[in-house]
Amino acid sequence: MKFALLISSLLLASLAIGQSLQVIAVDVSNAGRTPSTIHFYCSKDYDRGQCKSDVAGLQQLLSQFPLIQLGEWSIVLATRQETRRLQHAEGDSAETPALTYLKHRTSIFEGDLFSADAQRTSELLQMYGRNSIDLRLWAVSHELGHALCQESDEHRAEDYGRQLRNGVALHCGASGQLQSAAR
Ligand SMILES: [Zn+2]
Repeated sequence: MKFALLISSLLLASLAIGQSLQVIAVDVSNAGRTPSTIHFYCSKDYDRGQCKSDVAGLQQLLSQFPLIQLGEWSIVLATRQETRRLQHAEGDSAETPALTYLKHRTSIFEGDLFSADAQRTSELLQMYGRNSIDLRLWAVSHELGHALCQESDEHRAEDYGRQLRNGVALHCGASGQLQSAAR
């Protein structure tokens, strides 16, 4: 695994806002764990060594899911600061450690899901009631629920995420109606 020389800029969020995120591409072509259509990045301010090990952890976690159905997709590990900045640009004051931009075929995960210090780990545990291993599995499967089913609805994405976590064949649209009705 090595870093690409170029720093690219992913254009995210709505065109009206034109928010961008400075990222560094991570070359994982030799790892063979994930399809070559999945592109990995870390935000520019991410520690390089940490980026390598966190991307490796993310790849390992992703390998249990049917990623081949994703097609071209970008996955970014971003620092908490960058993850927050993106969300606030969207006018959302709530903080979430993972988000997916369907239109841009991009999912962003906060690095703290993979390598948080003790204080942040306990903060996340308090916020979500899950330990770090469960939280990162939940976050990744939930975002894949959005991504694999091209689903923007939170309840349905969570339903698909649960199917993925349970290892059952993913049925986009199959049980989402019940969830919608329950809202
Ligand atoms: Zn969601």
